[in-house]
Amino acid sequence: MNNKIVFATNNTNKIREIKQIIGGKFQILTLEDVGCFEDIPENQNTLVGNALQKARYIYDKYKINSFADDTGLEVDCLNGMPGVYSARYAGEEQNSEKNIQKLLNELGDTSERTAKFRTIIALVLEDKDYFFEGVIEGTIAGEPKGENGFGYDPVFIPRGFDETFAEMPPEIKNKISHRLLVLEKLTGFLKNYNLSNSD
Ligand code: IMP
Repeated sequence: MNNKIVFATNNTNKIREIKQIIGGKFQILTLEDVGCFEDIPENQNTLVGNALQKARYIYDKYKINSFADDTGLEVDCLNGMPGVYSARYAGEEQNSEKNIQKLLNELGDTSERTAKFRTIIALVLEDKDYFFEGVIEGTIAGEPKGENGFGYDPVFIPRGFDETFAEMPPEIKNKISHRLLVLEKLTGFLKNYNLSNSD
């Protein structure tokens, strides 16, 4: 198996994070690298459904191994919301400031602020589908803090820490994040896959 895999996302933050995590083990291609400039459909109502829809789209159209992720912030006292709707929680796609404001308004001054980031990766490899999951638990801060990261990072305090993801240097976030956990599973799988196919 060659080590080229398309990461089916237009989010440059995620591509940067994933390249930092995976390093030189696999060659991550972007959508641009394979000449994909169209919008990839993402209209399922689960993280698994969305991740698979994106990875399948690239595999089926460009015939190249592909993976895609979908992440949700699940807040316990909001019954898992915003979850799969995290990106458009406040209505406008990818407006992190408004999403955070809506979340803080919904929570008010409750002390029940436990939450988790869940990332699902769907991998389409030689026409078969595989799924991986990474979860990090934490709490939602009372107000946004920090300048690093993206999305809900300014209000997410991972368990065992007293600062938000956005207050941490990116190297620390990338050592503990939901994305690192899911990528470890993905890379572990790919290493074994390689071995079993080369003997
Ligand atoms: P996506 O569907 O994986 O792009 O992510 C859905 C939403 O979760 C987007 O609004 C992102 O900003 C947010 N999100 C994804 N990953 C992270 C993260 O690592 N930190 C903070 N927010 C994130």
